[in-house]
Amino acid sequence: MDELVHGTAADGTIRVFAAVTTDILREAVRRHGTSPTASAAFGRTLTGALLLGGTLKDYDRLTIRIDCEGPIRGIVAETPGNGAVRGYVKDPTAELPPSSNGKFNVGALVGEGTFYVIRESGFDIGLHKEPYVGSVPIVTGEIAEDLAYYLAKSEQIPSAVLLGVLLENSEPYVTASGGILIQMLPGANEHIITMIEDTIRHAPHLTSIIRDGAGPKDLLRLGLGDIDFEVLETYPVYFRCNCSFERAIVLISSLGKGEVRSMLNEENGARMTCGFCNEEYVLTGSDLEAILAE
Ligand code: ZN
Repeated sequence: MDELVHGTAADGTIRVFAAVTTDILREAVRRHGTSPTASAAFGRTLTGALLLGGTLKDYDRLTIRIDCEGPIRGIVAETPGNGAVRGYVKDPTAELPPSSNGKFNVGALVGEGTFYVIRESGFDIGLHKEPYVGSVPIVTGEIAEDLAYYLAKSEQIPSAVLLGVLLENSEPYVTASGGILIQMLPGANEHIITMIEDTIRHAPHLTSIIRDGAGPKDLLRLGLGDIDFEVLETYPVYFRCNCSFERAIVLISSLGKGEVRSMLNEENGARMTCGFCNEEYVLTGSDLEAILAE
């Protein structure tokens, strides 16, 4: 089971998050049929949203949205902050050859564009506040660098971000996915920041230790080296969408009775696919008749 750990270090001047998201990415790839490089980009974005979702609890929904000009054209990952995450990429079949070092060329698959973080709140209590939207231009398109750049630039929080995906020619195809987010809060010691940057630069491959069974606490140990940390909370994380047959009915109803009647006459039913999870809902003729009878 995938898990996220939230911790603190250096007398509360550093906060840390780490997550293993292998099952999440397996489910996301199964649902969306993403190409290898698109799967790497998608996994990093899903993990990034969950890690960032751990930093702030005063929202109902946090979304990372990447609008880009590369072949993948866009990536969205959204979390309501309770460990669930869902998302999609605009072109799941987009693919490029690996870069010269043999790694996924996620940077080129994403290309230039804008990296958005959107926080929405107030739904629960019936308020419809304007969402908080922060954005930065895409720096490398490798996702982790872009998230770190966003945090430094838009939220003024120096952060180290590691996001990794490992795919192998085997079953299961996704062998590891996960990430670490380390944030320096006001008062953080320069020396410790340098130590962490150095540890991360020399850290063994994040995904190979996940493949070998490392949990999120092991990832924190990897990211922090010799610095002690305290775990504040641990919670399960999973791919979950909030769509349902009932919501599909509401959506079809909202098209208006004229439209529903023509669906009934022409197709004797309707099909609706959720963009976030690719689940298909099939409405029969009698479902449509029930909508018309309301
Ligand atoms: Zn869905």
